[in-house]
Order: sequence, then structure tokens, then C-alpha cells
Amino acid sequence: MTSKQQSTAVLVDIVCPYCGQVVAADADRCPHCERSTAADPTQALPTKRLTDRPWLIVLMILHVGCLGIPLYWRTRYSLAVRMLLVAVSVIYTVLTVVGIIWGCAYILRMLRGG
Ligand SMILES: [Zn+2]
Repeated sequence: MTSKQQSTAVLVDIVCPYCGQVVAADADRCPHCERSTAADPTQALPTKRLTDRPWLIVLMILHVGCLGIPLYWRTRYSLAVRMLLVAVSVIYTVLTVVGIIWGCAYILRMLRGG
């Protein structure tokens, strides 16, 4: 088999991600295990949603805190992780608000004292 024929074979046949059998690339379902080949993550990478990027979630928590809870809740993370995100955002927001109030009180004391 020449290299050209091999590359053609790759285009024609794909390997089923579930059972490992060779399946025709245009087949919607694997004839061996009846599962959809369209869901193969190596063949068609699903477009990642913006909210699935961990660094973006961290950035959101740092910037909008608990205001982003609906957004954190819509992510595809497990329930435990989402609950953690919500908890962290609430704690962060509370700490921020306390920090701002403490800072304002501190400045007021400085102004009165000076
Ligand atoms: Zn299969």
C-alpha cells in the first residue's frame, strides 16, 4: 500500500471511539456497537463554550463575584464543582464588601483624626 492509499483510507474509515472497530466515515452510527460516531471527540472537536474555560470562571469570580452565579451554574461542571464555584463567589463577594466597608471606615477615621 502506498502512502497515498493510506491517507485515502484514513479519510474513508474512522475508528469507533467506543468499540475500536473501523467504521465508514460517512456512517452516522457504528454498525458494531450502534453508537453514534458523530460524538467521537477525536473526529469532530465540539466547540468549547466560553464558560467552560476555568481561567474565565476565576476571572469572573474576581470581577463580578456572586453576580456571576447564573453563569457559573450554566457551566458543564459537575454539581459539586458548580456549588463550590457559587460558594467561593459568595465568600469572595462578602470578603470584598467587608474589605471595602473596613477601608472606608479606616479612611474616615484617618480624616477625622487628621
Ligand atoms: Zn462501535
